[in-house]
Amino acid sequence: MSLTSLLSTIHIIQHYCWYGSSSFLINISMVKKEYRIKAEDIVLLILPLAFLLLFLIKPQNQEINKQPAAEEEHRHMEPEIALTVYNPTESLIVESKLEEYLVGVVAAEMPPSFDLEALKAQAVAARTYALGRAEGYYGSTASHFGADICTDPGHCQAWISKERFLEVYGDESDWEKIEKAVNDTRNIVVTYGDVLINPLFHSNSGGATEDAREVWAISESVPYLQSVFSPDESSYPDYEKTQLYSWNELVRKVKTRYPNTKFPSSIDMEIEAYTVSGRVASIRIGSVTMSGTEFRELFGLRSTNIILSFPSPESVEITTIGYGHGVGMSQCGADALAREGYSYEDILKYYYSGVEVEEIAQ
Ligand SMILES: [Zn+2]
Repeated sequence: MSLTSLLSTIHIIQHYCWYGSSSFLINISMVKKEYRIKAEDIVLLILPLAFLLLFLIKPQNQEINKQPAAEEEHRHMEPEIALTVYNPTESLIVESKLEEYLVGVVAAEMPPSFDLEALKAQAVAARTYALGRAEGYYGSTASHFGADICTDPGHCQAWISKERFLEVYGDESDWEKIEKAVNDTRNIVVTYGDVLINPLFHSNSGGATEDAREVWAISESVPYLQSVFSPDESSYPDYEKTQLYSWNELVRKVKTRYPNTKFPSSIDMEIEAYTVSGRVASIRIGSVTMSGTEFRELFGLRSTNIILSFPSPESVEITTIGYGHGVGMSQCGADALAREGYSYEDILKYYYSGVEVEEIAQ
């Protein structure tokens, strides 16, 4: 469009605005002729108007760009969210500031040597986990004597005091690194459909995470807890473990759960089916068939990613790959991704499909 036609169109827009927009029939006195504005004319009117708006709104954008620092300041002045935390080892319920409690959770759940972005991802997952339970979305507070959350890693998420952490896991600079991960993600949570997710996580996926339906008897699929490939986690210490049993020993263990079953005297067991992530869905021992999850629990295995081998006619070797139930975020995978340059937000979106990472809705 030439400058002349642009100015002419702008002139028409000015008249259009000044003369009112209720009618498409406008008398423009300057050109001494009636103008009937058609649909295609409206397109011609909108294009230069958008062009003009670009110039008009630019100074406002510059103002907007100044706001995050002010918001940041405001954010830190907001009243602290508090939680009631049940500590079963001390039989105590204490009220704790959410962000302070989270430092103890991240310190207990992830090694301080992990990349800062991985620690941040863990902090956001831990915050989402705690707030989701405080809201009553997942699990019952009845098992905490009414407290929002507990420090039992087998029930909620682990937690460690600063004193204990300094004795066992790290030094002041490690603690400060974890505090930074929590502070830098203050008020950030993970949501799906505007609801806090159940941000399950585990230590090492062994190469792929698991669909939640393969681990727990839930009727509906959880859209954000699907199986995803995970970066190579074989360099982490929890990756692989082998346990050796004699056939008789193995049978004795199975009989604790199936006492009335008879088993053959020589080895008779096989993996019958695998899940989509390559973990054991079902395994047969003699005439007993159990799920991979039940087998893992019975033998205290690290995961259901199981390889069976038989080094002799009497012995069974069970090798597990990865550590944990395999659902949601892999902590070793989070560290591996962070070292590849992923941000904490990228990591969370990688493991929890289709989620948003955003500030807590006020
Ligand atoms: Zn709990």
